[in-house]
Amino acid sequence: MNNDIKEILYTKENIKEVAEKIGTQLTKDYAGKNPLVVCVLKGAFLFMADIVREIKTYAEIDFMDVSSYGDETESTGEIKIVKDLDVPVEGRNILIVEDIIDTGRTLNCLVDLFNHRKVASVKICTLLDKPDRRVKGIRPDYVGFKVPNEFVVGYGLDYQGHYRNLPYVGILKPAIYENN
Ligand code: 5GP
Ligand code: MG
Ligand code: MG
Repeated sequence: MNNDIKEILYTKENIKEVAEKIGTQLTKDYAGKNPLVVCVLKGAFLFMADIVREIKTYAEIDFMDVSSYGDETESTGEIKIVKDLDVPVEGRNILIVEDIIDTGRTLNCLVDLFNHRKVASVKICTLLDKPDRRVKGIRPDYVGFKVPNEFVVGYGLDYQGHYRNLPYVGILKPAIYENN
C-alpha cells in the first residue's frame, strides 16, 4: 500500500500540530456557544477525532454521510444525503469538519442545506484545501494545509475505498488511477 504513494505531504505529527493550533482557536471562538461539530463521513473521521479532542469547551458532535455524484476524482455539485444528522439544527452553531475542499461543490450544497434549516451560524474546518480547483465561492474558516492540485490519499481520504488507514497524507501515484 505504501508503494502506491509518490510523496508524503503531511505526517501524523504534522497533522497533530495543526489540529492543536486550530483547536486553540476553536476553543476561543466557540466558548459559550455549544457548537454542533459535524463530521462529514467518511473522509473526515480521523481529523474529526483530532479536532474535537482539542476543543476545550462544551461541544456536541454528530455525523453526516453525503455522497457527491461524479467519478472518484471529481464531484458534480449534486449531493445525496446517505445519513442525516440525529438532532435538529435550527438555531445551532454548526462547525462542519471536512477532509478536503476541492471544487467546493459538496460544501456549497451542505452550507445551503444548513442555512435552509435556519442554523444560527455555519463554519467550515477542513484538513486540506485545494484552492486552485475552486468553482464555488466556498472559503473554509479553519484550514489545516493547502495542497497542490494533485490527488491525495491517506488520513481518512480514499481512492476507491482504500488508503483511508494510512497515518499520513500523500500524493497517490498517477499510475494507480490512470490504469482504471
Ligand atoms: P468538492 O465537492 O469540493 O469538489 O469535492 C470534495 C470531495 O471530493 C472530498 O470530500 C473528497 O471526497 C473528494 N476529493 C477531492 N479531491 C480529492 C483528493 O485529492 N483526494 C481524495 N481522496 N478525495 C478528493
Ligand atoms: Mg469529504
Ligand atoms: Mg472519496
